[in-house]
Amino acid sequence: MIEFRNIGKSYDGVRAIDNLNLHIAQGELVVFIGPSGSGKSTALKMINRMIDHDQGRILLEGREIYSFDVRELRRRMGYAIQSVGLFPHWTVERNIATVPQLLGWPRERISQRVSELLTLFGMAPEQFRQRYPHQLSGGQQQRVGVARALAADPAVLLMDEPFGALDPVTRAALQLELKRVHQSSGKTIVLVTHDIDEALLLADRIVLLNHGQVVQVASPLALLSNPADDFVLDFVGRADLGIKLLSLQPVAPLLRQQRAPAGAPTLAEAATLREALATLAMHRTSVLSVVNPQQQVLGSLHAADIFAPR
Ligand code: ADP
Ligand code: MG
Repeated sequence: MIEFRNIGKSYDGVRAIDNLNLHIAQGELVVFIGPSGSGKSTALKMINRMIDHDQGRILLEGREIYSFDVRELRRRMGYAIQSVGLFPHWTVERNIATVPQLLGWPRERISQRVSELLTLFGMAPEQFRQRYPHQLSGGQQQRVGVARALAADPAVLLMDEPFGALDPVTRAALQLELKRVHQSSGKTIVLVTHDIDEALLLADRIVLLNHGQVVQVASPLALLSNPADDFVLDFVGRADLGIKLLSLQPVAPLLRQQRAPAGAPTLAEAATLREALATLAMHRTSVLSVVNPQQQVLGSLHAADIFAPR
């Protein structure tokens, strides 16, 4: 879908991105992560030509991005940023409708699309469409920013720390919403963050950058189980690496067929091993009863199995 081939970019002779090679597949959610100044935003903004690269080629669906008319290129890509960038004197509706309006969609269709997106992000359309940005909370503004990026149904969504300035609760809610949108729409999403937990939660693949160079490209599980070097290890958090690994692993493979003793605490089958561990610790026990959403018992989970070599 998006391919970086030997991409380089310097600012005033200083390398910001050095020989980046990466192929992002259709429907993939790729996260660029790294310390401040590592080149994440530069890498992202080269995709829609907000920044010009000076070496190599970037292809969109096999076509050089410079062979597109730049407006056409950007229409194919929704773009959402941390500072939101909503137009303050425009209503929520008009903000969301920016690109559809440019594309000349009929009024009916635009109005319908705005309702659909507001609903998707848990904002009642009749309550919010006529409001102005200053009449929204920070979290609602961020939602409108992401809704605007999605409005014309672009194939690609580019997001630069879209949840950066939010409180942890709102942030977690929006992360889950994004995950849902990604799973249901199959869109290709490229997201920049410096928050490793956000990357672990959302990414199909994580691209870890340092000083403009790729340090490691891996799935969340592979990154944690096989960190390439000490930099990666420090970045993912040496101390709680084990806990983070558990949070990426489902209960299912460790499920035993036989039932837990009567009175054992229950655990949802969709839970992660991290949640299993927390439940075990909270109840000071060593066996849990694993149940499906209908509360039917599926089997048991034993603490010893979590710690056994696999
Ligand atoms: P990140 O998003 O990872 O924080 P950036 O991609 O914004 O990093 O920046 C990468 C490097 O390029 C940094 O050293 C930054 O100072 C430099 N840089 C970014 N934009 C410019 C610019 N417009 N002019 C000069 N240097 C820049
Ligand atoms: Mg940045």
